[in-house]
Amino acid sequence: MRKVALVDYGKIVLQENCESIQVLEPGTVKIDVTACSICGSDIALYHGKRSIQEERYFGHEFSGVVVDAGDGANGIKVGMRVASELSKTCGRCWNCRNGLPNYCKSMNDALLPGGFSEETLVLNNSEYSFISSIPDSIDDITATLLEPTNCAYRIARRANVKHGETVVVFGMGPMGLIAARIIKSMGVDVVVGVDNSKMRLEKVRQLGFVDVVDSNDENWQDQIFEICGAKGADVILELTGALPVLQSSFQVVRPGGRIIVGSVYNGFADKVELLPIMRKELKILGAKGPYPYLKTDGTSAAVDILVKLQDDLKKLITVYDYKDSQQAFDDMISGAAIKPVIRFR
Ligand SMILES: [Zn+2]
Ligand SMILES: [Zn+2]
Repeated sequence: MRKVALVDYGKIVLQENCESIQVLEPGTVKIDVTACSICGSDIALYHGKRSIQEERYFGHEFSGVVVDAGDGANGIKVGMRVASELSKTCGRCWNCRNGLPNYCKSMNDALLPGGFSEETLVLNNSEYSFISSIPDSIDDITATLLEPTNCAYRIARRANVKHGETVVVFGMGPMGLIAARIIKSMGVDVVVGVDNSKMRLEKVRQLGFVDVVDSNDENWQDQIFEICGAKGADVILELTGALPVLQSSFQVVRPGGRIIVGSVYNGFADKVELLPIMRKELKILGAKGPYPYLKTDGTSAAVDILVKLQDDLKKLITVYDYKDSQQAFDDMISGAAIKPVIRFR
């Protein structure tokens, strides 16, 4: 079995003859991975912003086929096409009973060794599952977007947008673009995407999901007020993890507006002026996906969203063969690709 292994920070090695997974751990299923997309958090790990020692899996956005269904919990069967996402939590622990199912159980235990391997185990038992079955209408490559779509939907739900509101998205990476597309599908017409990478902005313009503002422009904030109105934007999605951007969010949000933070900050906020939190009566909400959103019929809402929006979301993907994995990581880092997907078969 083949593996894309992160052997050290910044060092990817293709391991060709890894031992196949023989023993199924209790409560898991075994998946033959078809493809796995690269997440911003994989890049953070690659760059040493997260610890390789503490991280147990590598790759969590994948699609594949079930080759051993274990005890068949949650209706999972051999031969089923599946993709990763948080689809089930216990419903009984304190977190589940208090509206925090995304804290039910650490995802670190959910996948071993993860989706950058041709085979992986995934937790799927009566308490918890990190897979959903995929309908025929989604291909295997697009299905790798299920987990990020789930996370972006969490961001959109936290934003709780209403018809006619204006939304500014800072950070036009995959999470920003998927969240922007979902928010548009919720009846918001004015969505402004802000970024500082010329290469990325050019691509985003071509996609046509959002109005684009280049934060290198001297008058970039004026451009936002021009589009959203003089009061400022109703909602900001802060998806960059850069503290100066949080500062900018305080400036372009309207009084009483909401700022949804769906990014990871490394470090402290000593240069960020916090006065607007009180002066503007801001609501600042974190959004930590993935989250087990289910429809009333018990099936995954994220699968439904992916089916509906797939024609647009597909445009974010660049596919790389397994042997070109290093290129896939390089292109994600440089911005040459928005959402690289590594294909095993
Ligand atoms: Zn992810
Ligand atoms: Zn629970």
